[in-house]
Amino acid sequence: MSESDSTTADISASTDRTDDEDINVQIDGFTKVFQNQTGDDVVAVEDVNIDIRRGEFLVFVGPSGCGKTTTLRTVAGLETPTEGRIIIEDEDVTGLDPRERGIAMVFQNYALYPHMTVRKNMSFPLRIRNYPETEIDERVQEAAQLLEIADLLDRKPSQLSGGQQQRVALGRAIVREPSVFLMDEPLSNLDAKLRVQMRTELNEIHQRVGKTTIYVTHDQAEAMTLGDRVAVLNNGELQQIGKPQKLYDRPTNRFVAGFIGEPPMNFMDIDLVSSNDAFRIQRETMDLELPDDVNSELDGYASELDDVTFGVRPEDLHDASEVQTVPVTEENTFEANVKVVEPMGSDKFLTVEPFEDESEISARVSPDSGASVGDIVTLVVDMDKVHIFDEQTGDNVTKHR
Ligand code: ATP
Repeated sequence: MSESDSTTADISASTDRTDDEDINVQIDGFTKVFQNQTGDDVVAVEDVNIDIRRGEFLVFVGPSGCGKTTTLRTVAGLETPTEGRIIIEDEDVTGLDPRERGIAMVFQNYALYPHMTVRKNMSFPLRIRNYPETEIDERVQEAAQLLEIADLLDRKPSQLSGGQQQRVALGRAIVREPSVFLMDEPLSNLDAKLRVQMRTELNEIHQRVGKTTIYVTHDQAEAMTLGDRVAVLNNGELQQIGKPQKLYDRPTNRFVAGFIGEPPMNFMDIDLVSSNDAFRIQRETMDLELPDDVNSELDGYASELDDVTFGVRPEDLHDASEVQTVPVTEENTFEANVKVVEPMGSDKFLTVEPFEDESEISARVSPDSGASVGDIVTLVVDMDKVHIFDEQTGDNVTKHR
């Protein structure tokens, strides 16, 4: 597992370079421009620079159309960059065929041959490369055991469940002993429960195989649970790259803040008011005092901020009558009308209206909360976890604390 970590503070830079010498894959100044049907340019990816360490599990995540598949396909050699280079094992492979890159790809649709048995499907990539039979047998057995599908080797794909088919597709990649695995939404055809189970299995398999893996998904939970590091893309630009917890705790901008975390972060238009050398968040009856570390970050910056957005995650809002983890004071509470209560067993989701314009935010409170629809609930904010965003640029001005 990789220990290194970084974030890109500057959205336009789209850069993650490291001095680490054991770089397995380098995406260097990668830009891809497609022409659409009317001949106009579509910038799919713009100037992305990422160093991927040996053994690292790197996940590209972002909404549909953000450029993640294009990036993966370019590493694979299925697309040619408009600008930039792909370097694998210190070799510039930009002009090389996919077969010459030492990579193996696992697709969303498994791409298994229906008329072949599992054994034949798994051995196919070795057979076409003329490996000796004994080596083919050995590798297939080894991969099948690793994936716990050794008893399925003589079945055809139609006789397997979705999860088993996915394992065969993985097996077919593993037997090639590639330098890098590339995976494009490999779990998205599975139902929700199996998806979570396969996610855990993929984690275990990666730990055992230990190979560099580049993985594409639109699912932030999958990205967070699988990635040593997660690269968030939006509109073809790298927004932030770092360890999952870092992206959750210190999102670099409003896009990342809203994309990582479920339910998503609440955003509120507020006034940032300076009072007695400290900043307060104010709107209507809401009046919250920002903690020292946020204040020092805002110092010297706040005067330039005309409009700011207050961000707080649903799990950092608590019902004042139940909370034990955060002290309840006048400086960290506000009142809101309760519109919806959703008991989840482990928590309750409240949808509340704190302001007269009836905009809604959500709070993930204790299951013991007695809040009912129509009540006015007092919510406590864990002020150490709040974020302030520049409304103009979307930059999180409190990310460095
Ligand atoms: P999804 O999750 O929907 O697959 P994605 O993040 O993987 O999305 P890409 O498939 O990489 O996104 O596409 C990025 C952008 O490039 C999109 O605007 C897409 O429409 C465009 N694009 C991709 N392939 C082509 C192509 N062959 N010709 C023209 N435009 C393309």
